[in-house]
Amino acid sequence: MNGSARGTALYLRLLSHARPHRVIFLWSLLGMTALAATEWILPALLRHLVDHEFGANLGTLSFAIPLALVALFAARGVMGYVATVGLSAVAQRVMMDLRGKMFRNLVALPASFFDARSAGELVSKFTFDVTQVAQAATHCVTVIVKDSIVIVALLAYLAWLNWRLALFLLVLGPPIAWLIQRVSQRLRAMSRRLQGSMGEVNAVAEEAIGGHRDVKIFGGQAYEAARFERAINNARKFQMKVIATSAATEPAVQMVIALGIGMMMVFALRESAAGSMTRGDFVSFVTATAMLLPPVKRLTSVNEYLQRGLAAAESIFGLVDEPAEPAGGTAELGRARGEIRFEQVSLAYGDKQVLDGIDLHIAAGESVAFVGASGGGKTSLVNLVPRFYVPQAGRVLVDGHPVETLKLEALRAAIAYVGQHVVLFNDSIYHNIAYGALREVPRERVLAAADAAFGSEFVAALPAGFDTPIGDDGLRLSGGQRQRLAIARALLKDAPILILDEATSALDADSERRIQQALAQLRQGRTCLIVAHRLSTIENADRIVVIEQGRIVEQGTHRDLIARGGAYARLYAMQRESGELV
Ligand code: ADP
Ligand code: MG
Repeated sequence: MNGSARGTALYLRLLSHARPHRVIFLWSLLGMTALAATEWILPALLRHLVDHEFGANLGTLSFAIPLALVALFAARGVMGYVATVGLSAVAQRVMMDLRGKMFRNLVALPASFFDARSAGELVSKFTFDVTQVAQAATHCVTVIVKDSIVIVALLAYLAWLNWRLALFLLVLGPPIAWLIQRVSQRLRAMSRRLQGSMGEVNAVAEEAIGGHRDVKIFGGQAYEAARFERAINNARKFQMKVIATSAATEPAVQMVIALGIGMMMVFALRESAAGSMTRGDFVSFVTATAMLLPPVKRLTSVNEYLQRGLAAAESIFGLVDEPAEPAGGTAELGRARGEIRFEQVSLAYGDKQVLDGIDLHIAAGESVAFVGASGGGKTSLVNLVPRFYVPQAGRVLVDGHPVETLKLEALRAAIAYVGQHVVLFNDSIYHNIAYGALREVPRERVLAAADAAFGSEFVAALPAGFDTPIGDDGLRLSGGQRQRLAIARALLKDAPILILDEATSALDADSERRIQQALAQLRQGRTCLIVAHRLSTIENADRIVVIEQGRIVEQGTHRDLIARGGAYARLYAMQRESGELV
């Protein structure tokens, strides 16, 4: 599709979102049309006033015109209200609609989508882009509908007053429009650069705020201040350029307009000398011409808004159309037994190979620990079970079903997961444990899960106990406290498959051991995949699998592997020396 065809398609698609609100939209258009179609009445009233009432005797004084004026403004006030409120109501609904659509798709997107994008980039689609579309759409509809009617109505009125003069105006129009457009182009280019430098100001400020501790420790104050200074100085310069350009060009445009109007006045005066124009005609003509300028100005810059709005719409629909996670098959699992099988599984992120021909059978109820140097692919391997990623080769089976044939919900309902990066939600402690589908679980069970994860003690010390809000991503909690909540959440889910990816790494050795004891009980009757750094915590796993560079290099029980004296034994000896094994 070429540019303009794509523009049209986008435009039609946006319009389709306004379709459900077409009644309000039509009312608004009606108000706008009425408003625009009555614009010429003001100069017409003036004409009548000057020609027939001005300088009349006191005795024959009539209040008809002033009253008509008040009535006109009252009526136009109502029309303007209907037009503005109606159009904004539609725009706000479309905004809400687009945000909702984007969000519903966002939460259904595959993990790989999020790997490739920053949160800020996505969030700005919801905030900035949506606002841009709404503003541009409102502006463009108003200008295209209202201003073009105003222009046609005023021109018709002018032609009716004096067609020779109106013709002259028509000749004058294009060069003025051209000039205005040139100026607005230049301004647009500059405001784009201004936006860029404002973005930099934001970025530097954000970094300094987010990293305030590191700035302090590493003495980065002067560096950050200098960086910020540069950014705000740039922003100032571009802002001044925008201001100076518009300040310098505005008088130039005004000059051209004044020149045109001056010439028109000469013509008009000649007409009046020739007797084909009254005083009222003259006043009315000049007034109507002056009223013509603002809508012409807006009409010449409408394309700028249109482009800005379409660019934002493209970004929004890009997210709406992003293909959701493949829904998987239709097979249900029921209460899964929890048998997991990896068959010749290879995985790559882009062209980076991270898993290479993994073959592994985990029996239902077995606890398997994965160890190995970081970057080896442990997280990537366990992430294949809930189908966060799809392997390039091989299959992952749960209870004998290839995971892609299972209903995604059914598969994930069978899995509890504590990830490497604990994620908490801005809600109470209680609802961070009883999250999502667990929200309706009876309170006793939630408290029991917290207890099992040794969370109850620290929660009791909080001001409002379980009802304490934890702030954005649990910033007010320590790393170990966060992990305990995440573990409690996983325990509460009571799923047949439990995945713990370095779930206890932020705990002190003592808490870790206590949680491990709790987990040891919990492992009864369910399949556990445990990625652990501290080897002491997995010694009693049914099996230990050592992963290096995407391959299984060793597996067996702790005793077997120590006896074999291979990779695991070396890791173990290293941790013993460094005192990590206590
Ligand atoms: P481990 O958990 O054993 O430390 P990972 O499975 O996290 O290892 O990572 C294995 C390799 O894959 C690493 O080299 C890492 O940089 C890379 N990797 C991990 N996740 C991604 C991702 N989402 N996108 C691209 N590369 C990734
Ligand atoms: Mg990992």
